[in-house]
Amino acid sequence: MLKMISLPYRYDALEPYYDAQTLKIHYEILYKGYVDNTNKTEEKLNLARNTGDFSNIKCLEKDLSFYGSGAILHKLFFENMGKPKQTEPSEALKWQIQKDFGNFERMKAQFIEAAKSVEASGWTLLVWVPEFNRLEVLQCEKHQNLTLWGCVPLLVIDMWEHSYFLQYKTNRAEYIDRWWNIINWDVVNKRL
Ligand code: MN
Repeated sequence: MLKMISLPYRYDALEPYYDAQTLKIHYEILYKGYVDNTNKTEEKLNLARNTGDFSNIKCLEKDLSFYGSGAILHKLFFENMGKPKQTEPSEALKWQIQKDFGNFERMKAQFIEAAKSVEASGWTLLVWVPEFNRLEVLQCEKHQNLTLWGCVPLLVIDMWEHSYFLQYKTNRAEYIDRWWNIINWDVVNKRL
């Protein structure tokens, strides 16, 4: 059984950059939905294996990717936020960013432009790609499309409307720009 993480901060801890109401709904309703539906899908898959009835397998595999990826990305997203401006990238992360992007500002610029241009609902991630032995910035459509197999997400931002619409309306650029203040770099550093 997949369990929800408990938030490592209070609902109002990210204000004014990310308001308590959006965070509460995002965590209690949307994130919970992904975790619950992942567990329901696992139950249905178990039933299919037990009965040998795989007539619904295509739908179940799709649900597993969708809800499972939604649950994982939300966990990373909530974990890689924290009280405003308390942390910064480690020397190791800064060194890797400089090596792979030229400098920190260039990585940030690519991350922000990639986030702004996510088509409809999706995510933007800073990832480690073991196969390439380097960092990359990726977009992800919905939760599960456009990924690079085997990459390790380091920093993720939720670009679904539910993540910013209450507070920022259609102003994606402002959301991303202000969100940058509540990154918990301690968590990102550890993931690297
Ligand atoms: Mn979300």
